[in-house]
Amino acid sequence: MTPDSCIFCKIVAGEIPASVVYQDELVLAIRDLNPAASTHVLILPKQHVESVNDAAPENETLFGHLFSVARKIAEQEGVSTDGYRVVVNTGKNGGQSVPHLHMHVLGGRALTWPPG
Ligand code: 5GP
Ligand code: ZN
Repeated sequence: MTPDSCIFCKIVAGEIPASVVYQDELVLAIRDLNPAASTHVLILPKQHVESVNDAAPENETLFGHLFSVARKIAEQEGVSTDGYRVVVNTGKNGGQSVPHLHMHVLGGRALTWPPG
């Protein structure tokens, strides 16, 4: 998957519309098209990074930033107190369907554990 054919790169570029809830120089946060809870936000790095398999010392700032933004989104969405879930599916067995790194922020209802 190259950035040219990547759906999330197209969303970052504004070529595909999305409901944007937050953005800064490193990330874009959008509402999931098919929400699994009343709060379901995806945090996408603006640069094309495929998955957690690309985590490395040189991009620790980006990976760490995803967590600060998750906290910010949770506050913005009003789910901080009751709690929420942060998920990063990785690869085939992890259930990753879009090969552009993204963090799910889910809240607004009690979520079951473990996942299927
Ligand atoms: P994954 O399964 O890769 O962890 O999560 C991909 C998520 O992206 C899914 O929850 C899916 O609903 C969402 N998604 C897929 N295509 C689009 C899209 O074009 N726009 C938005 N907003 N979400 C999308
Ligand atoms: Zn991409």
